Amino acid sequence: MSASPRSATPASWITHWVGGKAVPGEQTRAGDVFDPSTGEVTARVPFASLEELDACVRTARAAYPAWAATPPLRRARVMFRFRDLLERASDELAEAISREHGKTLADARGEIVRGLEVVEFACGIPDLLKGEHNESVGTGVDAFSIRQPLGVVAGITPFNFPAMVPLWMFPIALACGNAFILKPSERDPSASVLIARILHEAGLPAGVFNVIHGDREIVDGLLSHPGVAAVSFVGSTPVARHVHLEGTKHGKRVQALGGAKNHAVIMPDADLDDAVNALMGAAFGSAGERCMAISIAVAVGDDTADRLITKLEPKVKALRIGGYSDLNADMGPLITGEHRSKVCSYIESGVGEGASLVVDGRGGLSNKGFFLGGSLFDGVKPQMRIYQEEIFGPVLGVVRVPDLDAAIDLINAHTYANGTAIFTRSGSAARAFTSAIEVGMVGVNVPLPVPMAFHSFGGWRSSLFGDHHIYGREGVRFYTRLKAVTQRWPRDVQHAAEFSMPTMK
Ligand code: NAD
Repeated sequence: MSASPRSATPASWITHWVGGKAVPGEQTRAGDVFDPSTGEVTARVPFASLEELDACVRTARAAYPAWAATPPLRRARVMFRFRDLLERASDELAEAISREHGKTLADARGEIVRGLEVVEFACGIPDLLKGEHNESVGTGVDAFSIRQPLGVVAGITPFNFPAMVPLWMFPIALACGNAFILKPSERDPSASVLIARILHEAGLPAGVFNVIHGDREIVDGLLSHPGVAAVSFVGSTPVARHVHLEGTKHGKRVQALGGAKNHAVIMPDADLDDAVNALMGAAFGSAGERCMAISIAVAVGDDTADRLITKLEPKVKALRIGGYSDLNADMGPLITGEHRSKVCSYIESGVGEGASLVVDGRGGLSNKGFFLGGSLFDGVKPQMRIYQEEIFGPVLGVVRVPDLDAAIDLINAHTYANGTAIFTRSGSAARAFTSAIEVGMVGVNVPLPVPMAFHSFGGWRSSLFGDHHIYGREGVRFYTRLKAVTQRWPRDVQHAAEFSMPTMK
C-alpha cells in the first residue's frame, strides 16, 4: 500500500461519504486497491487530510442533535428498512467485498449474514434502551435511569471483514442515537461506501453516517479530535494498544479489539472426523485471515496427535484454491503480495526452529494473484515464533500435550486470548475446560465460537483493550451513557431548606 500522490493514469477512484453524499476528496494522498485474485490494481482510494477529517466531524456533529432527539422507535424503523435493503443488495455487496479482499463469494455472503444479525438486534433498540425505575425511593420521590447517546463516535476497522466488522459497530451506535464516522481499512474500502449509500436509501438523515478513508494519519486524527466522543477499533494488537492509549489519553471512551492465536483442543475421545472437518474450515477458511481462525490444534496425547495428522494431511493437500468467483474454491488469495511474503517467512521460521512441516503450501507461487496453499506443521513448541505470533494466513500448527490440564495451562499462558474450542464427547472435560480457560469466547465442538448478535464479542488479554465487548448488550452500554434521575413533584407540602446530606424519608 503506497501513500503516493494522484497517479497519472488512475484506475477508478473510490469516494468518501460525507453529509449524505459521495465526496471525491482532495486526493493529495492515496493508496492502491488490489484485486488479490489477479494481483492487479483496480482502484485508488483517497486518504483524507486532517482538514477533510475536521470537516467530516463537523458535519456529523451538526447532524447529531436531531438524530439523538428522534424517538428510538423511528430510529429502529430506519434500521428495519436498512436491513431489508442490505439483504437485497447482498450480491452486489458480496462482489465488492470479494473483489477487493479475495475471499470466496460464499464466504463474503456469510459475513453479510452475520452483520445483518446485528442490524436485526439493533431494530429492538426501544426495548434495549429501557432503563430501571423505582417508585417511592422516598416519600413522594421516584428514581429512574436512562441511557443517552454519546455524540459523534468513530469506528476503525480491519481489512478481513470489510462489511461485518463495521456492522458490529454502527447499527447499534446509530440506533442508540449517535452519529458515526467509519474509517474502513484502506485495502478494501468499497464495501463501506456501498453500505453508506444503502443507509441513505433507508432514510438515515444526511451526516449521521459518514465514511472517511485514510491510513494511520487519519486514525491519529480521529483519536485526538475533540469532536469525537468514542472510538471502536478492530485490528491488530499493536495498533489496538496504540488506539486505546491515545484515545483514552484524549478523554474518549475506547474499545479496541486486537489480534488472536486461537487454539482448539482435541481430546482423545473426540469425534475425530468431525473435529478434522471443523479444523479445516476454521484454519483455512478465508485463507486463515480471520481473528477467530484456529491456528493451533492442541492434541491431547501422542496417539490423538498421530491420528489427527494422518487425517489432516491429505485434506490440507487437497484444498482447492481459486479466485473469488470460482465456486469450487475452498479459499482465495491473501490480501497483498507483501502479506503473502510475511506468511511465507513464518513458514520458513517454523522449519528453522525445528517444527515438522507436514504440508508446505508454498509450491507454485506466482505473481498472478496472491495465492498461497495451506500448510500444516506438527511438533510446534511454545517457544517458536510460529506459536507465539499471529500469522494470519493458511497455516495450522499442531502442539502435543499429555493431558487436558496441560492444554489449559498452555492456552492460559498465551498472550492472545480471543477464542478457543474443545472437541470432546465428555461433558465433564468440556465443563472443566470452559470453567478454567481464560479466553473471551469458547466453543464446545464448535470451532469458530463467534457469539450471535444478541450476545457480545470480545477476547481477553492482548486481544481486547477496554472495558466493553462489542455488539449485543455490551454494544448498547458502550454507545450510551447512563443518567440517574431522582424526581419529586411536590403537592402542597413546602420543604424547608436542608443543609445536611439528604436522606430519603
Ligand atoms: P491493522 O491493525 O493493520 O489495521 C486496522 C485498522 O487500523 C485499519 O483501518 C488501518 O488503516 C489502521 N492502522 C493500521 N496501522 C495503523 C497505525 N500504525 N496507526 C494507526 N492506525 C493504523 O489490521 P488489519 O491488517 O487490517 O487486520 C488484521 C488484524 O485484525 C489481525 O490482527 C486480526 O486478528 C485483527 N482482527 C481482530 C478482530 C477481533 O475481533 N479481535 C476481528 C478482525 C480482525
